[in-house]
Amino acid sequence: MASAIQEQQFRGSVGVPATADERAALLGAVYEHALAHYARTDADPFPEPADEAQLHAALGGALPREGADPRAALATLMTAGEAGVLASHSGRFFGFVMGGAHPVSVAADWLTSVWDQCGALYSTSPVAAVAEEIVVSWLVELFGLPAGTTAGITSGCASANLTGLAAARHHVFAERGWDVGERGLVGAPVPRVLVSEGCHVTVTRALSLLGLGGQVARLATDGQGRLRLDALDAALAAGDGPLIVCAQVGTVDTGAVDPLPEIAARVRAHRGWLHLDAAFGMWAAAGPRTAARVRGLASADSWATDAHKWLNVPYDCGLAFVAHPEAHRAALRTQAAYLAHGGAEHRDPLDYSPEMSRRARSLVLWATLRHLGRDGVAQLVERCCRLAGRLAGRLGAEPGVRVGNDVVLNQVLLLFDSPDDAAGHVGRVVTELRRGGVAWASATTWRGTPALRLSVCNWQTDDRIADACADAVIAAHRSATRAGHRSRAGEEPR
Ligand SMILES: *Cc1c(COP(=O)(O)O)cnc(C)c1O
Repeated sequence: MASAIQEQQFRGSVGVPATADERAALLGAVYEHALAHYARTDADPFPEPADEAQLHAALGGALPREGADPRAALATLMTAGEAGVLASHSGRFFGFVMGGAHPVSVAADWLTSVWDQCGALYSTSPVAAVAEEIVVSWLVELFGLPAGTTAGITSGCASANLTGLAAARHHVFAERGWDVGERGLVGAPVPRVLVSEGCHVTVTRALSLLGLGGQVARLATDGQGRLRLDALDAALAAGDGPLIVCAQVGTVDTGAVDPLPEIAARVRAHRGWLHLDAAFGMWAAAGPRTAARVRGLASADSWATDAHKWLNVPYDCGLAFVAHPEAHRAALRTQAAYLAHGGAEHRDPLDYSPEMSRRARSLVLWATLRHLGRDGVAQLVERCCRLAGRLAGRLGAEPGVRVGNDVVLNQVLLLFDSPDDAAGHVGRVVTELRRGGVAWASATTWRGTPALRLSVCNWQTDDRIADACADAVIAAHRSATRAGHRSRAGEEPR
């Protein structure tokens, strides 16, 4: 079939509507590429990537006056572009905190593109709006959040932090009789915003975007990166004014969870708002064995999380939950006659996220959650946590390698005994690992010390892959140690 189609003249490129066969050829080409891509990355996930100049040479140049055959355009993207793909979807990818898309979520994502729904309003996509309402109720229950909690689907946790903190800002000023949406911040009561020094950059960026950057106080953390309660008490005693406190449920380096019940009690006593950045940590609440590690999660006022990390859906998909529906809607209010809002009748997605026209992300969430069920989500999360513990056990037994964190979730922080050049050592380990093709990990700096970070966040990662990763890290560490000796002895680095 494909060859018969390929022999046809393509008309789509000259603005003539594509025929059904032409559509089939384009979608078929991507389908075939997809299968080949998975096979290639299963066999060899991390080949040396194309460099920037090569990608520019293959894809760049001036926008041509005349369009290309769409098959040719796609073919160039697939062949030249693939050389610049980082296979973070691989079960052997342990970098950052990323996750890899589950097959059902990829398929539902394709469907979402085919349907090309505008996820702004009920009237622009009834199915997206209804699926959104359904997945929000599923997730509120899965995470054990208060009944009545509202949620918006965002591009990621950065945008979810912005949403939660916008609701926070609205609420704490409204409590003082100040409508910040109407009146702005000039002349408003001076707020206090308390964050831990380990908070994510997207939290502080959201606060800056909301005009609160000048009021942020960064509080000290303990050896695991958890907010210290004595620092919080001191900051709370130091003033009064509209109060917002941000805590972390899973910090990127250690996976540490702030002491949530204690923080929540203090924030409530001061009539403040507690926002949680739970980009990946939120999902621990879904596992019977891991839920205790995020005890107190439900006592916050807003939560930001990602689905494109631990739920393993494709980019992009985050979620902002707010326990005070009126603050959520007031912070994001939109009024325009032409929007034909559903009012009380329908739920319009644009009332719950800062975006308007957007991808119907709820469809992918629906398919993924419907497929996994409560048990499937729990198993995914608990398996990742168990494998992180397994990695830590194996690696901590290697002389010269130390596990720098309590492995409470899916993050493993590795420190190396390297006599003088810790940064060079970690750099060599990272490079050796990638060259070996067995695992991909990223470097970080923990308390001033260069370190390696492993994040287990993928449905495909299993015991075999985790053990191979541990072996590869050990081999890379030994090889980097030898290279370090050689370079100290003045030999040419190899
Ligand atoms: C990834 C991450 C974010 C930002 O989320 P995006 O999805 O990249 O916008 C915020 N906080 C934490 C803890 C994260 O891990």
